[in-house]
Amino acid sequence: MHRLAPHASLLTTPLLALFLAACGGAPADHGQFSALTANAGEASDLCAHHVPHDACVKCHPELAARFKAVKDWCGPHQVPESQCFACHPDLSFEPLPQPPPDADLADVPREQALAGLEGVAAPGKVTVIDFWAAWCVPCRKTAGDLNLRLQHVPDLAVRKVEVRDWDDPLATRYLAGTPTLPLLVVFDAMGAEVGRISGHKPDELDALLAQAAER
Ligand SMILES: [Zn+2]
Ligand SMILES: [Zn+2]
Repeated sequence: MHRLAPHASLLTTPLLALFLAACGGAPADHGQFSALTANAGEASDLCAHHVPHDACVKCHPELAARFKAVKDWCGPHQVPESQCFACHPDLSFEPLPQPPPDADLADVPREQALAGLEGVAAPGKVTVIDFWAAWCVPCRKTAGDLNLRLQHVPDLAVRKVEVRDWDDPLATRYLAGTPTLPLLVVFDAMGAEVGRISGHKPDELDALLAQAAER
């Protein structure tokens, strides 16, 4: 089931089913989240619609075709699915908490991640490997959670692995059995896995970090 296309995996989430019910729209009216909005997000100020200005279709109606071309379109609300607050009340493009300048935070290069994750955990530190995707709303929230913890939790390292979609070889290799992104894998300072979290669950993250620190 984890090999489904991104839109299909979204459709399997109970939350989206709720959104669809709330919107009164059939699934066929709804699109899938592309990375078009998220990719503009970090470099662009928010407009009056609380969307990254460079990507906002209300501010730039000429962009609609680009979103429709990748099926990132909400029919009932006539905005990109990735900008539809009516269907996705969880959506937010507000700036994330930033990690401190000396944070032990790094992207795992794609080639390295494909070769294997041995040695990715930072020796002597609790390490969180964060599997995320640019189109994933809970992934953005979780990135903010991790940045906050990098500010406050001593000897914490975060390693990020970007996954393109559920057909990505990285997903095939590492996300088997993972119901939803992000996937966080927590290691103790000895490099032993402490546990895994699927989805945006800050309380579970704190519990696993405490458990890892006690070992
Ligand atoms: Zn706008
Ligand atoms: Zn909508």
